Amino acid sequence: MTSTPAGLSEELFARARRVIPSGVNSPVRAFGSVGGTPPFLTSASGALLTDADGREYVDLVGSWGPMILGHANPAVVEAVREAAGRGLSFGAPQPGEVSLAEEIARRVGPIERLRLVNSGTEATMSALRVARAATGRDVVVKFAGCYHGHVDALLAEAGSGVATFALPGSAGVTASTAKDTVVLPYGDLDAVRELFAARGDEIAAVITEAAPCNMGVVTPPEGFHRELAGIVHGGGALVISDEVLTGFRASAAGYYGIDGEGWTPDLMTFGKVIGGGLPVGAFGGRADLMDLLSPAGPVYQAGTLSGNPLATAAGLATFAGLDDAAYAHLDRASAALQQLVAEALTTAGVPHVIQTAGTLFSVFFRSEPVRTYEDSKAQDTAAFTRFFHSLLDSGIYLPPSAFEAWFVSTAHTPEVIDRIAEALPAAARAAASD
Ligand SMILES: *Cc1c(COP(=O)(O)O)cnc(C)c1O
Repeated sequence: MTSTPAGLSEELFARARRVIPSGVNSPVRAFGSVGGTPPFLTSASGALLTDADGREYVDLVGSWGPMILGHANPAVVEAVREAAGRGLSFGAPQPGEVSLAEEIARRVGPIERLRLVNSGTEATMSALRVARAATGRDVVVKFAGCYHGHVDALLAEAGSGVATFALPGSAGVTASTAKDTVVLPYGDLDAVRELFAARGDEIAAVITEAAPCNMGVVTPPEGFHRELAGIVHGGGALVISDEVLTGFRASAAGYYGIDGEGWTPDLMTFGKVIGGGLPVGAFGGRADLMDLLSPAGPVYQAGTLSGNPLATAAGLATFAGLDDAAYAHLDRASAALQQLVAEALTTAGVPHVIQTAGTLFSVFFRSEPVRTYEDSKAQDTAAFTRFFHSLLDSGIYLPPSAFEAWFVSTAHTPEVIDRIAEALPAAARAAASD
């Protein structure tokens, strides 16, 4: 805490709401489901955030994933500074794009070709377009509770912010778009089989989060992807594995590094970590599919700022820091935090389940395991809200929604974890009291 007068975040939020819808540029930031004023952040370093009122928080959001090496990591900042001195954007090929694509292809076997875009949304949107072009089919299948960005065709039952606000999908998506999307319960292979039996020749692709993280973390059932790929490929359709969140966070090769045995996605999407905090997404996979992209092929896809030199510098510097030691650290920090949360909630008698996907985890406020979106929605969100606000008051910044993963970084040292440990018992008691 510092002596900065309180209330600047309130003032900024009031100003913001006059000029920016709900005062934010991405919905969950508005604290709509937990209530209260979101802190306006002015700086961040390592595992810590500082708001406009000078309050400090331990960060468990990490910009929703990208800040895996902690905030203002010196090597990443220096790489960006150095790149900035050489020009901010060329609109022409530059070496960093090649190195970033090579790094991703080196880590993830199925990536034969890759194109960089500016967000995860653009990546999934473009992957869908390629899949539809390659198959000559229109229908895409997704699983309830999986979020793939705000692509029109993929907003139905999309978890994350959509779940936080209890929307069935989004207004403004046309009926003709929605009719080409089929939503199935997560993990339900019988439903996939039935759909392929009935409408197989219409289905271009099945898209799934490599491990769902936007309805909270759901560990994919054993063998799920292998069986799914068998059905989908048998029906002449493609599998798109969305690793925008899990990529290079769940493990050094993303969730594919954990369950890539015996199946190969045709296309994959990335974002978050690969830009190290700058706007980057990517989609890639089989060379024959990716070579359908223009100018060689008939699928148009482009971007004024795609492959931006600052963004690729940040991504490459982040990858340079993501060695075995970094993942071992993330594993330890994640496990320590899970144990502390479990202890505090158990002591306070709060029903909870903790689920993991590699180094990712989330805490559900219910006693049964969460396997589907329906399960996740059946949480005690009011208990989460009390838990959240108690932690925020103690200077711990959790995702402001019960439907999100928690994010640690290599800057979450044992000392930082201790600070969280001190705040947990009171938060657990708050969760218990209604
Ligand atoms: C965040 C996310 C997206 C969308 O990425 P943006 O960069 O926010 O557009 C897509 N898919 C998954 C799994 C995500 O977590």
